[in-house]
Amino acid sequence: MRPFEYAAPTTAQEAIALLAEHGDRAKVLGGGTDLIVDLKHKPGNISILVDVTSIPEFLGIEETDEGLRIGSMAKYGEIMEHPLCLEYTPEIVAASHTVGAVQTRNLGTIGGNLVTCVPSADSAPSLLVLDAEVTIAGPDGNRRIPLQEFFVGPRKTCLQPHELLMEIWIPKANLGKPSHFLKFGLRKGQALALVNAAAAIWLDDKQQIAEPRIAIGAVAPTPIRAPKAEAHLAGKKPTDELLTEAAEIAVSECKPIDDFRASANYRRQLVRTMTFRCLKRSVEIASKR
Ligand SMILES: Cc1cc2nc3c(=O)[nH]c(=O)nc-3n(C[C@H](O)[C@H](O)[C@H](O)COP(=O)(O)OP(=O)(O)OC[C@H]3O[C@@H](n4cnc5c(N)ncnc54)[C@H](O)[C@@H]3O)c2cc1C
Repeated sequence: MRPFEYAAPTTAQEAIALLAEHGDRAKVLGGGTDLIVDLKHKPGNISILVDVTSIPEFLGIEETDEGLRIGSMAKYGEIMEHPLCLEYTPEIVAASHTVGAVQTRNLGTIGGNLVTCVPSADSAPSLLVLDAEVTIAGPDGNRRIPLQEFFVGPRKTCLQPHELLMEIWIPKANLGKPSHFLKFGLRKGQALALVNAAAAIWLDDKQQIAEPRIAIGAVAPTPIRAPKAEAHLAGKKPTDELLTEAAEIAVSECKPIDDFRASANYRRQLVRTMTFRCLKRSVEIASKR
């Protein structure tokens, strides 16, 4: 690895100014579990790492009138033990448990996972089914967008030059929404997802499905929602037959590839099974309320 400078600004604007000053030669550093590996393999012409883990607005987990705010630099280990996450977003806790091994979870951040933007990012499905939004800090101030719009392509987000991912919001209306996350990898630990999936639903007073959400990873260029499958569920009784139909529609909304880990057909079968199981478990949780 080539030598580079290191800066640890304590405000977003200070970090943004450093990025503007150094241009392409600056890289943002979170926990470093993706970035340092990348720099080892492709050192490039980096002159400075701008560590954003000391910026207070990027840290912490709190409940406000708007919902649950998760700082982008919250580590998996922190999320896994945080009382608000355990109470309101157990599927995000479950997803965090599946990332890498203890070392990765103690350093890696949820924001770094979203910015890396690989199709298999394990944080994405459970956030997408809760209609998460993200706040982006930039030279002209902050903007908030739905997480779904943040993902643009494989390893490509909508972040503009000198912009930073500051925080993630789960809307108040979705705190505690019955939901479930599943990941399938080739090993129990230290495995990227062949497929990961999450679902979330409410049951209304007639015990019909309301606001269904399905999100799936590693089967398209970015983590995706399955809007046709969701539409098929809305306003209906959650029978096994209906959930099976929705899972089949979700398969048709994916574009998995063949690679050295699994064939596209195997991934389609996983989507079918995992979507059904995520929906079924969400319905079970909702039925007990
Ligand atoms: C051994 C190992 C196992 C892993 N297992 C998994 C796994 O099971 N599932 C999974 O999804 N991932 C896995 N990963 C990938 C990685 O750990 C996660 O994506 C992690 O969440 C990245 O977070 P980080 O804070 O370490 O990001 P960093 O490595 O610090 O940064 C990642 C990217 O995001 C940018 N960035 C970071 N923070 C910000 C910010 N606030 N604003 C703008 N840009 C930013 C960086 O410039 C870099 O491009 C694994 C990695 C390793 C090394």
